[in-house]
Amino acid sequence: MSTTMNSGLQDALIRTRRFFKPKEVVSPDGRTLLKVGGRSGDSFYRDRWSHDKVVRSTHGVNCTGSCSWNVYVKDGIITWETQATDYPTTGPDKPEYEPRGCPRGASFSWYTYSPTRTRYPYIRGVLLEMYREAKARLKDPVLAWADLTEDPERAVRYKSARGKGGLVRATWDEAIEIVAAAHVHTIRKYGPDRVAGFSPIPAMSMVSHSSGARFVNLIGGSMLSFYDWYADMPVASPQVFGDQTDVPESGDWWDAGYLVIWGTNVPVTRTPDAHWMIEARYRGQKVVVVSPDFADSTKFADEWMPAEPGTDGA
Ligand code: SF4
Repeated sequence: MSTTMNSGLQDALIRTRRFFKPKEVVSPDGRTLLKVGGRSGDSFYRDRWSHDKVVRSTHGVNCTGSCSWNVYVKDGIITWETQATDYPTTGPDKPEYEPRGCPRGASFSWYTYSPTRTRYPYIRGVLLEMYREAKARLKDPVLAWADLTEDPERAVRYKSARGKGGLVRATWDEAIEIVAAAHVHTIRKYGPDRVAGFSPIPAMSMVSHSSGARFVNLIGGSMLSFYDWYADMPVASPQVFGDQTDVPESGDWWDAGYLVIWGTNVPVTRTPDAHWMIEARYRGQKVVVVSPDFADSTKFADEWMPAEPGTDGA
């Protein structure tokens, strides 16, 4: 098939003038034309990026990055986000904080509006049924909670249902009533120091953390460390050092001459801070990584200590 356009077809196209219409010239050099209107198919694309205001925020997702983001909002809905770039400078002898951010943060608005996001309280069905039955019978939430938890047969039934699904949606009133009844019962029977409390980490939400911590302190309970609770991070840190990684911030990695990376995979889990470690390598910092696998952080290391999986806590 010839690639040369048939001259008859060419004439026909030119006669339609579909692509040859005069437009307003808007730049002095005559290079810019302005065409009002256009293909309706563009509107979907344009709407996707339109917004009526930009607000400054970050991501409260159990992330200590706290990167600054410009969040674009339209009709009260987050439409997209871009990384802020206006961090204060650290001075001439250190790398800058910017760039900060990660792909997980960039897609955070999808998480916010995900249909799978949990927005209601869910309670193990077997527990909820037993609670409702006991409360209808005893007419009191605390007596109902005591009745079912002190009964060995029913206690085994709801405890052995843990981790097997079977969660059913409850109302906030009912969920809060059960939590309150459990607290009152425990305090009355065993004492307030038998309430072991945990609230979301400060990095996730300072308000959630401090209100929960204050509540547990006021009732005389014991606050757990986050690592005890999650069991997903190095419990050795609070156990050995007595604090919970409330230690120097990532910018201080630059000042270290010797860095031991242990219990974290910096480029993946500390994405916005990883550049401090990488930049320090250029001025001769030595890096040792303790990791059971050849993690992303291991490739930056001078020494890799490949701990046997399951033994690094020890
Ligand atoms: S590290 Fe990622 S998720 Fe955390 S605050 Fe920064 S951009 Fe958001």
